Amino acid sequence: MIPIAKPLISEDEIEAVKSVMLSGNIAQSKKVDEFERQFADYIGTEYAISTSNGTTALHVALLSNGIRKGHEVITTSFTFVATANSVLFTGAKPVFVDIDSDSFTIDSSKIEDKITSKTKAIMPVHLYGQPAEMKVIKDICEDYDLKLIEDGAQAHGAKFDGKKVGSFGTGSFSFYPTKNMTTSEGGMITTNDKSVYELSKKIRNHGQEKRYYYDTLGFNFRMTDICAAIGICQLNKLDGFNKSRRINAEFLSKRLSKLDYIECPKTFSNREHVFHQYTIRIKNGKREDLIKALEKAGIGYGIYYPLPLHKQPLYIELGYNDRLPKTEKASEEVVSIPVHPSLKKEDLEYIVSFFEEFK
Ligand SMILES: *Cc1c(COP(=O)(O)O)cnc(C)c1O
Repeated sequence: MIPIAKPLISEDEIEAVKSVMLSGNIAQSKKVDEFERQFADYIGTEYAISTSNGTTALHVALLSNGIRKGHEVITTSFTFVATANSVLFTGAKPVFVDIDSDSFTIDSSKIEDKITSKTKAIMPVHLYGQPAEMKVIKDICEDYDLKLIEDGAQAHGAKFDGKKVGSFGTGSFSFYPTKNMTTSEGGMITTNDKSVYELSKKIRNHGQEKRYYYDTLGFNFRMTDICAAIGICQLNKLDGFNKSRRINAEFLSKRLSKLDYIECPKTFSNREHVFHQYTIRIKNGKREDLIKALEKAGIGYGIYYPLPLHKQPLYIELGYNDRLPKTEKASEEVVSIPVHPSLKKEDLEYIVSFFEEFK
């Protein structure tokens, strides 16, 4: 069985965890500070604030940007549920814009149509490791005085115009085991804005600045030193992991692009895709048959995502009835196949031969 994702944990992570355990500082302490400093340097921001997971990172990023009840946040429906749910947690309303079919990310040319007097932020998702159209999005944010919050949970290290995602506005990342790097569970916010930094630190720790004094409602969304120690090891290897992902993707595209029934992921000269997922479109309407055959062949796959958020019972209940044709089409056609750094040459060969023989 070739899995769709596999975290790469080696001796250095095990040793790092062991030394934290032996130090006695197993909750939030110095390792967290060290990981935050290194992650900020890696993304190229002044500050980074760790959290307990990617969902809490998004939630805190929104709150520390002042997003509240009565506000609207423009985002995409073609994403993991945590993107839009984090907006709901603040009391604000996610407003969905259709995707651009080539990149699977928010269609920047349709954002302005959805801006109202309540709009306070735009939250693009760098889906599958592909950066959204950050130049246009950043310009819109400046023109309309909107906050920019990037969901980079799938895109650690991806670049747009040579700049890492998460450095355009307030960035948000996840370190869940299937992502490009892991801390087991964990998240990170990145920013150049001192007030976002200070407020984020406060909100993740019960709204406390001075010990046992509270002026803001906060949470316990802290990362532990155990997770941070894993994160430091993984961050050192991230560029290597991403490079393998890109090489694997290139191999897959070279062979799969010859097949009529498959549309391979697109790349753009000014965007560095980090292939969190290698996602193809099945153009012959036979995705269900293909999935069954993949299962039989022992090839892991994923459908990200089979039902867009605006069609989920939770969102229908909230009154959503958008028509987002490109999002809906994508959810019917996509299949993600293994691209992770643990794949061997023979695994990749086996995968492409499977697709060459599938009818
Ligand atoms: C994984 C993911 C999240 C949430 O991260 P968790 O660490 O699982 O909470 C948010 N947005 C996107 C796009 C994701 O892929």
